[in-house]
Amino acid sequence: LFIVFEGGDAVGKSTQVRALTQWLRDEGISVVQTFEPGDTAVGRTIRQAVLDPATGDLSPRTEALLYAADKAQHVAEVIAPALSAGQVVVCDRYLDSMLAYQGAGRVLAIDEVAMVARWATQDLRPQLTVLLDLDPSEAVSTKTDKDRLESAGEDLHHRVRHHFLALAEADPEHYLVLPARLPIAEIAARVRDRVRPLLAD
Ligand code: C5P
Repeated sequence: LFIVFEGGDAVGKSTQVRALTQWLRDEGISVVQTFEPGDTAVGRTIRQAVLDPATGDLSPRTEALLYAADKAQHVAEVIAPALSAGQVVVCDRYLDSMLAYQGAGRVLAIDEVAMVARWATQDLRPQLTVLLDLDPSEAVSTKTDKDRLESAGEDLHHRVRHHFLALAEADPEHYLVLPARLPIAEIAARVRDRVRPLLAD
């Protein structure tokens, strides 16, 4: 079972990833908790390159290919082996982040970005994507050092949000959309309700 959390910056994804992982472990389920970008050795180098303001302007295609490379290694080294071993994988960001940020955000042709992303991920898709939705103007980052993208214009973050929502609307069977403003415990409870039946499959 492969579950992904998606959403804009500072919407509380990592808190919910931890909560779901902990609950699954308490249920006696073997879980791999992971994230993108950066949860492999080469991924850490890629994360540093794409997020460090010192990198300066990256061409949108360069940025997309770096994220795709992170994903390719992440799937090959972490996600696919865990799924093959029968573990549940809970991942903070995945394919949709690439479509939303590098496609809609950086204004590349979405179908082209999708093609690259699907190739990189061997077309491995999550059974469930939890989208934590929030108006970007309400997102309050707790980070003090802004990374390259967090200092990008607000328009980009609006395009990203709308693309996430469009992906969810097009495929409701594989998405759970929750307002990120809900209390943390309520979001966690709604996620568990949606995940429980998937564990029986
Ligand atoms: O989720 P996390 O905070 O680790 O993401 C780090 C940064 O990378 C964020 O600013 C996020 O918007 C950006 N990002 C991106 N494209 C992706 C994934 C993340 O621009 N495909």
